[in-house]
Amino acid sequence: MKKKIIVDLSVKIEKPEWFERLSSFSKIVRVFCWMMRFVNKLRKKPSYGTKTLTVEEKAKAEIILWSIEQKKHFREKENSVHGLQVVRGDDEVLRVKTRIIEREDDLSFLYPILLPSKHYLTECLIREYHLKYCHAGVQILAAKLRLQYWIFSSKRNIRSCVSRCVVCKRFTAKSVDYSTYTVAS
Ligand SMILES: [Zn+2]
Repeated sequence: MKKKIIVDLSVKIEKPEWFERLSSFSKIVRVFCWMMRFVNKLRKKPSYGTKTLTVEEKAKAEIILWSIEQKKHFREKENSVHGLQVVRGDDEVLRVKTRIIEREDDLSFLYPILLPSKHYLTECLIREYHLKYCHAGVQILAAKLRLQYWIFSSKRNIRSCVSRCVVCKRFTAKSVDYSTYTVAS
């Protein structure tokens, strides 16, 4: 009997997200702000009338952006995501319920925003922090990001992002030891 071999050659091509054309996190947020303004105008909802974007508007846009991405990447089950206790706030964004909620501290530190791992937006955010803190290393970046965000496998994500920084690579590259070379006559 001849064995039937079925080969599936269909390749799923995922459509790239609109923000993948932009490389900076703040730029993505700014573009999203303008998109929100445009949608609000079409829906005849009250919108900011100024020609420049406000800080409040940008913060709101970032929250909406994360909540959209969280819905795509996380399956929340009984207030838990991959074993992490989470809460969904009025702003629809998922936040991690840390063990230090009894402590008097900033709310974003007690309830950091849950970010997907190996995600384009998360990578852009890490890169932005890396540049903001003058090419900071993994430890500093992890601490700074933790003030507001909770990234799955954060150290691994940060390390991979820092290792791709061309400026850091240039400064940490080992110089060539010419003393071991001999000049051919
Ligand atoms: Zn760097």
